[in-house]
Amino acid sequence: MVRAYEEWFGGYAIDPAHVLGRTFEGAGYHDIVLLRDIPVRSVCEHHMAPIRGVAHVAYLPGERVVGISKLARLVDAFARRLQIQERLTQEIAHTLDRVLQPRGVAVVIRAAHECIASRGVDMQGVAMMTRCLLGRFEREPFRREILSTLNAPAGT
Ligand SMILES: [Zn+2]
Repeated sequence: MVRAYEEWFGGYAIDPAHVLGRTFEGAGYHDIVLLRDIPVRSVCEHHMAPIRGVAHVAYLPGERVVGISKLARLVDAFARRLQIQERLTQEIAHTLDRVLQPRGVAVVIRAAHECIASRGVDMQGVAMMTRCLLGRFEREPFRREILSTLNAPAGT
């Protein structure tokens, strides 16, 4: 049990800003970078019940870009803690914004919470969506652009 908990809550031992590691010259690429369907495995801080879902993380590069695997590791570093989905979404967005200083950041998380799926209101198949849009993604035209991209079905 101790080993399992060390893994589930391993995010406390990780500095999320450090996870992003080195950034690179963007080679003049200034359009949207988007990593979709990053698995989210977290634990809700109210019930210590599992949260399972996916995160989509996008940014609009300034001068620098970051390795795409680092975006997934950033999500994981914050997810492997006691969380509420709202804070998880914002922590990912604000850390990416602070470290990489892109022109915009968008994070969307869709997740199911075991604390409502198996007790209380007892609802299976209910998903919660949260999002955090920063910089250029807060305003048109990038706001509409990123939201329609994120709402497109997987595989398009
Ligand atoms: Zn809960």
